[in-house]
Amino acid sequence: MDWWVSIPKVELHAHLNGSIRGSTLLELARGLGEKGTIVFSDVEHAILKDDRSLQEVFKLFDLIHIVTTDHKILTRITQEVVEDFAAENVVYLELRTTPKRNDLIGMSKRSYMEAVVKGLRAVTTVEVDLAPRDLGPGNPVNSCAITDLCDGTARKKIYVRLLLSIDRRETTASAMETVELALEMRDLGVAGIDLSGNPIVGEWATFLPALKFAREQGLSITLHCGEVPNPVEINAMLDFLPGRIGHACFFGEEEWRKLKSCKIPVEICLTSNIRTETISSVDVHHFVDLYNAEHPTVLCTDDSGVFSTSLSGEYILASSAFGLGRSEMFRLARKAIEFIFADDAVKRELGEIFESAARKLD
Ligand code: 5GP
Repeated sequence: MDWWVSIPKVELHAHLNGSIRGSTLLELARGLGEKGTIVFSDVEHAILKDDRSLQEVFKLFDLIHIVTTDHKILTRITQEVVEDFAAENVVYLELRTTPKRNDLIGMSKRSYMEAVVKGLRAVTTVEVDLAPRDLGPGNPVNSCAITDLCDGTARKKIYVRLLLSIDRRETTASAMETVELALEMRDLGVAGIDLSGNPIVGEWATFLPALKFAREQGLSITLHCGEVPNPVEINAMLDFLPGRIGHACFFGEEEWRKLKSCKIPVEICLTSNIRTETISSVDVHHFVDLYNAEHPTVLCTDDSGVFSTSLSGEYILASSAFGLGRSEMFRLARKAIEFIFADDAVKRELGEIFESAARKLD
């Protein structure tokens, strides 16, 4: 097996609808085209287009959502996305999605998320670990690592935790509803909240009350930060001290200083940044500066379906663009364990998985 695929990896920034298989999206769009709901050729063109600006990406997401906002389809794409990540040895996945309401089809934010959880349970190619470890007495703790399951067999396992995204188009009340839902669904693997959506839409002050409440209640927070030049918002986000941030493309001197002194981990999405032209080329990507400064970073896909990438592909890209060898890349993959939003028991188990993989690679 290809070395990059074979090493265990941790994925911390993957949007469910952005990770949809291209083939599934085309199949579903063709079906809606036949029903006359959409004009398939328009959608096909948008899906097959390779390079698109960040603003065009958000237009594409509106199209994708027309196709996927349906309980059964959400279950299907969740199952496929998890199976795809597991197939390339992602051993821990934080999958984020924006709970959506659509009264026309009887969809509430809760039923949206229930369809997602149903998809996680439908995964058959790999064992899915969803349950938080710290549920208290009476909840059995599974301390078995991936290659050493309790019954003596060696079945593959993927840990999946969910992050509920707040879209920047939402109101404070709607953001608060998402946080309440996340709290109710903690036992089903919901570990935190993400703020995402078109960065030129919405105000930080709109989301702050919900994000503060989420943190008070013990949820972890990650923010899309600095995807456009907006120093006031970037500074406000850094002052909030989120658990992690995504992207960090348009930081100035002051913002870099603040980020580094607070040691906030950065989710790096190389292909996404290049494709959306938020970074002009990979060799000038800020990853290399953060890496050299030993700042916490983790390589991620963002939207593997929309940007036709994979986590192994992101590792290969970083290795070749920045001249990092296999042992450095393995260390980088293992380091990501420190930044996950799951509890210490999961961190320990992941540590064992990497330890066992390291022994095999020696
Ligand atoms: P979903 O939440 O529907 O599962 O995944 C798609 C959504 O994630 C998009 O509608 C958008 O709100 C968010 N998203 C995906 N990729 C990006 C990105 O690169 N930047 C930002 N800000 N949001 C994104």
